Amino acid sequence: MFSIKTSKGPASFTRFVGPFINGKFQPSLSATPSRKALLNPCTEELLENVEEAGPEDVDAAVKSAQAALKGPWKTFSGRKRRNLLLDIAQAVEQNMWNLTVLEAACGKPLAEAKFDIEEVIECFRYFAGHADKLHGQNFATEDNHKSYTVRKPVGVCGLITAFNYPLVLAAWKIAPALACGNAIILKPAPQTPLSSLMLGELIAKHTDLPHGVFNVLPGGEAVGAAIVNHKDIHKCSFTGSGVAGRKVMAAAAHANLKKVTLELGGKSPLIVFADADLDQAVEDVFGAIFSNMGQNCCAGSRLFLEKGIEGDFLKKLKARVEKVKIGNTLDEAYDFGALVDRVQFERVMNFIEKAKKDGDSELLVGGKRHGEKGYFIEPTIFHNVKETAMIATDEIFGPVLSVMKPFSSLDEVLERANATPYGLASGVWTKDLSKAELCVQGLETGVTWVNCYNLCSSHLPFGGVKASGFGKDLGAEALEEYTTVKAVTIRI
Ligand code: NAD
Repeated sequence: MFSIKTSKGPASFTRFVGPFINGKFQPSLSATPSRKALLNPCTEELLENVEEAGPEDVDAAVKSAQAALKGPWKTFSGRKRRNLLLDIAQAVEQNMWNLTVLEAACGKPLAEAKFDIEEVIECFRYFAGHADKLHGQNFATEDNHKSYTVRKPVGVCGLITAFNYPLVLAAWKIAPALACGNAIILKPAPQTPLSSLMLGELIAKHTDLPHGVFNVLPGGEAVGAAIVNHKDIHKCSFTGSGVAGRKVMAAAAHANLKKVTLELGGKSPLIVFADADLDQAVEDVFGAIFSNMGQNCCAGSRLFLEKGIEGDFLKKLKARVEKVKIGNTLDEAYDFGALVDRVQFERVMNFIEKAKKDGDSELLVGGKRHGEKGYFIEPTIFHNVKETAMIATDEIFGPVLSVMKPFSSLDEVLERANATPYGLASGVWTKDLSKAELCVQGLETGVTWVNCYNLCSSHLPFGGVKASGFGKDLGAEALEEYTTVKAVTIRI
């Protein structure tokens, strides 16, 4: 057992020794297994050691997944899959506290971690509703023929996730994949594998999912690459950086042309018009960039304010930022935590130090490490940012907001907001419905929020355009990612 102390009491866990394959934890099959020491980024203290998987484990997981697909899993009706997804949701709900603590131990405030686990439960329940409603269509084609389509599972799916919302990102892929009858090899991010491993344990203990349908392989790029290169895996759903996403797409094409979904990064614009409810907009903009310490693919990292409101808006935003309580997220007194590890901390600090020196912007607030232990960075705002500044063009993935020079017209702001290779999310604040709709039409992003931000719902398809990727997590659209369509014509 190992336990984690929090201000609300401890949480205890059985040890997750290594990969979860064929319904159980087992040591890695690799001849030279590596162990990853996971630290709490707020305290830099050891949380747990995890034995990472190697390519041999990918082979073993694929074999167990194939056996399950040919065996008991094949006979599960849509109704049985629906009930199974509901059982997973219930198991997560009954273990909400432990899962919340595992997520918070990655540097995320307890309240945000709890919200994440609630989203996981909702996601399994939403896709449970789809499991018994997958159907094809009938067509009137030739005389004396009947034509129709059937939807079939893709087979073995490799699901690779990023570190920032560990179990949420996993659930967004696991739930539709299981609803459609696939088998899964999940590879969580190397920094945050614990909640995914615990999900394996919960599924084995509390549900009738046949062994081999759900496998979890902790590890980094090497295991991810082995999954993408595997010829018997026919789908890869990937969430992560554009750099890795490009490698995944190339490797998938080379290996076996497997079906690919890419959920990549962003540089999301936030546009506030002078007629907006400014107090509400300040609160939303604060959340858009600083929730999860800016480690959010949708992070609203470029703020465009209409000319005339900058002074008032920034004064209020600065005051809001100065209210945050930075500290160990296992203590509920703190609402702003640490970056996930030293690598991310140093990456973000480099952006900040460069911006302080390059003369492309002015520092409004923050800009420093908080304390001397833990990977804490103060919420940071630069204003008067030039369009070409590195903090305006690159995804930082940390608590850094670039307030761009004010805009004078709708056309101008749309052009500037779209002047990025990315296209994940955008936010607009105005009371004028016509302006809002023109922004919705004009913004080149997969998601636009109006007078709110970061509201993801299982009902709605989520995913980017342009260099933010393609394909959808969530919504009925996600079912397309995990099924193939067969066309049938019968002469009668
Ligand atoms: P990352 O690209 O470093 O890693 C993501 C995952 O890919 C990890 O599991 C990693 O081990 C694996 N990986 C790395 N190289 C690989 C390769 N060649 N083949 C197969 N797998 C490989 O990203 P990260 O640092 O974990 O996450 C941050 C990035 O993720 C940001 O760019 C962020 O915007 C993006 N992200 C996107 C979404 C979305 O839904 N669009 C959601 C969350 C995060």
